[in-house]
Amino acid sequence: MKVIKFGGSSLASSTQLQKVLSIVEADDQRRYVIVSAPGKRFDGDTKVTDLLIQYARQTIHRQDATATVQAIIDRYAEIGHGFNVPEDQLTPIFDTIRNLPNQTYADNTYLMATFKAHGERLNAQLVAAVFKQSGLNARYLDPKDAGMVVTDVPDDAQIIDSSYTQLAQWADSKQILVIPGFFAYNRNGQICTFSRGGSDITGAIIARGVHADLYENFTDVDAIYSVNPSLVDQPAAISEMTFREMRELSYAGFSVFHDEALIPAIQGNITVNVKNTNHPTAPGTLIKSTREPSSHYPVTGIASSSSFCSLYLRKYLLNKEVGLGRKILTILETHHISYEHMPSGIDDLTIIFDEHQLTPELEKTLVAEISAAINPDEIYFTHDYSILMLVGESMRNRVGIMSRAATALADHNIKLIMVNQGASEISIMFGIHDRDADQAVIALYDEFFKK
Ligand code: ASP
Repeated sequence: MKVIKFGGSSLASSTQLQKVLSIVEADDQRRYVIVSAPGKRFDGDTKVTDLLIQYARQTIHRQDATATVQAIIDRYAEIGHGFNVPEDQLTPIFDTIRNLPNQTYADNTYLMATFKAHGERLNAQLVAAVFKQSGLNARYLDPKDAGMVVTDVPDDAQIIDSSYTQLAQWADSKQILVIPGFFAYNRNGQICTFSRGGSDITGAIIARGVHADLYENFTDVDAIYSVNPSLVDQPAAISEMTFREMRELSYAGFSVFHDEALIPAIQGNITVNVKNTNHPTAPGTLIKSTREPSSHYPVTGIASSSSFCSLYLRKYLLNKEVGLGRKILTILETHHISYEHMPSGIDDLTIIFDEHQLTPELEKTLVAEISAAINPDEIYFTHDYSILMLVGESMRNRVGIMSRAATALADHNIKLIMVNQGASEISIMFGIHDRDADQAVIALYDEFFKK
């Protein structure tokens, strides 16, 4: 049987939900339906989740939220009325929206999580009503009743492993179960959400829990493309990729499938099929544990991300100094900072960070503490730093990939600040300046997909 997840754009309106209904009706193996909150109907529209965040903030700051509440209600009303869902089934949904401020919350972080989660919670209730109205044997299943328990982090929860034993009891459901994505409950029964876009994570957890044969992830693109389609016209679609390839590409900015959703899929060895709600017959992209090497393209995908910065430090005889790495890492640990990469030379070391972890003050503190601990000859942060990734399982059997990539970049006058083909044989990573990032992606695409 299959677990099938629909993203926000697939559920944005009654017209979109009609397509969802047809997809579910088309295959009786589609037994577990995970839904996001209604997303954007057009460019510039606001997702219901973002409206709920606004509603939560207005509640916290005791501001008038009448217009926001109405905007949220209107989104569900349009869908419900589009399918003639009886008014007595819609009223409780509208009342729940109005009454969110009247519940008690341990603090504002739990309030925010509960408001946000209702985008999916109420949508799953509505979708279940629409399915029933259309003659399907469907019902709503709350994450609590499903047995999903998560860590006590209101906006970035993680699944607790014992949930899988509970979820297994729902295997082989004869009924279609409509389950909200994005949230579950901590051990105290409080709502906690996953990080943004986290309905994919719920889908993967359910797929692992009920031992699904396939996890179909419906979104609004025909496939995952080998490169960002806003940079290259009609880029090659990826028909199959491995979990490792997906992970490496997500790292550098491929955002079609939430990277945390890969973990349950990998653990349960569940193949994921990313498909398009607007074009369901297109085969989409399969993400699985292994695949046959491609004889055609050695590279699967190319991506770049500018969300990095680096700390460069130089010290004469750095390579001979015992304990230097430990001193630096201890300072990072004290400040709860993780690092991404740490390429080193004889007298030099660069530490690459996810920029979001740092603030100008924290950078000053780190420079001061590291300087005091190891007395470097030179030390500074650089923010003009992008990571460019070339990823492909088939790269490991090929000779000359690095030389082709480096030549293509040199031909476009792109300066390489760092090259790392260290631990992973299936990717090559380049550190480049932000301003070169788009051109570098295009240059590599031309080299590996057009020649
Ligand atoms: N509705 C949530 C968000 O917008 C989760 C999701 O759509 O996956 O982040």
